[in-house]
Amino acid sequence: MIVAVDGPSAAGKSTTVIALSRELNFLYIDTGAMYRAYTLMALRSEIPLEDESAISALRDKVEIELVNHPEGMVVLLNGEDVSKEIRMDYISKSVSIVSSYMHVREKMVELQREMGDNQAVICEGRDIGTVVFPNADLKIFLTADVKERARRRQRDLLKLNINKELDEIKRDLARRDQLDSSRKISPLKRAENAVLIDTTFMTFKEQVNFIKELILAKNEGKF
Ligand code: C5P
Repeated sequence: MIVAVDGPSAAGKSTTVIALSRELNFLYIDTGAMYRAYTLMALRSEIPLEDESAISALRDKVEIELVNHPEGMVVLLNGEDVSKEIRMDYISKSVSIVSSYMHVREKMVELQREMGDNQAVICEGRDIGTVVFPNADLKIFLTADVKERARRRQRDLLKLNINKELDEIKRDLARRDQLDSSRKISPLKRAENAVLIDTTFMTFKEQVNFIKELILAKNEGKF
């Protein structure tokens, strides 16, 4: 069974999907982590982000692996654990440019489909229901009001001892959403048959349980 979860930045996709993958024993694929790792490689190579052909050429040198551990997912970039580094603000600010390039996306989508082959998978990103797994058994589009998403992101950052103004977080999220939704290739958009879930007024537990019920119902052929 393949479950596709898409939605804008900081809509709570990762935390929700991690909880679900553990409870239901599904493989978790965080596609955003892959674009982040590619971006880290580009920045380390000191290639200007606007240089599409040089950034695209990196695809033959880049090896990205997601390893599911009981304590969390580890992201390996050419064998190096970059799980923490890719969450830094400088990566968040650059990733939307890198992820807009066709050759970068082709490589990532190929890897994502390989990972999902013949497994129970829950995969989250921006184009999962539309491009990566258009035949997914269940598609979810998870969203929330931008102010609420900024508040949640601020709380997450505080846990990492990073203090960032709410307005700045909101601006950064809105900018990233705008870039991701307006790009030509595989823009962020709700697949026609995706279930729309607005979590603005939902607790974390409520949203996990809601999606879990949908997965179980789908699995039993109830809809
Ligand atoms: O999900 P996360 O916020 O980590 O994603 C980081 C960025 O990676 C997104 O803002 C987007 O530019 C890109 N991305 C994408 N397609 C996906 C997943 C992420 O373009 N399927």
